[in-house]
Amino acid sequence: MVDQNKIKEAVKLLLEGIGENVSREGLADTPERIARMYTEIFAGMDQNASEHLSRVFTVENNEMVLEKDIVFYSMCEHHMLPFYGKAHIAYIPDGKVVGLSKLARTVEVYARRLQIQEKMTGQIADAIMENLSPKGVMVMVEAEHMCMTMRGVKKPGSQTVSIAARGVFQENDRLQKQFFGMLGVR
Ligand code: ZN
Repeated sequence: MVDQNKIKEAVKLLLEGIGENVSREGLADTPERIARMYTEIFAGMDQNASEHLSRVFTVENNEMVLEKDIVFYSMCEHHMLPFYGKAHIAYIPDGKVVGLSKLARTVEVYARRLQIQEKMTGQIADAIMENLSPKGVMVMVEAEHMCMTMRGVKKPGSQTVSIAARGVFQENDRLQKQFFGMLGVR
């Protein structure tokens, strides 16, 4: 659980650390505001993807399902700066599917915490494998990292792409090509 008082204290200290006057008008409510905001953007820490993925439907047609362009916002754990972009999820059911909105919810669960993009990509794939037991899952995440674009190497617009393949996607080139084809990646 997020401890709002601790965050407030820490933000005050942080402001002092950068040489700010914490009692000036513009900053008066900032610690409180950040504490509330962190409660929202780190809400995924208290959540489990199975809350969303456990309600499954039975299907007979086990064709690939693709949900693309799932917009997400996360926070890099190295700099506590945002990284954000799109997740694309494909899976080949083995008799079980979930409502498409549940895939977006799953992305939220893992995005709303301090993260590493590669780890998040794998966590999404693993959660779908565990809960749906599909024949395979493929997840691709494309994101811009503020720690890359507003500081350090400063490469605005550069995208970090990460991929996780599970089950039949791991060894099957044809399936991977089909996935990239459906995303318009050549
Ligand atoms: Zn970073």
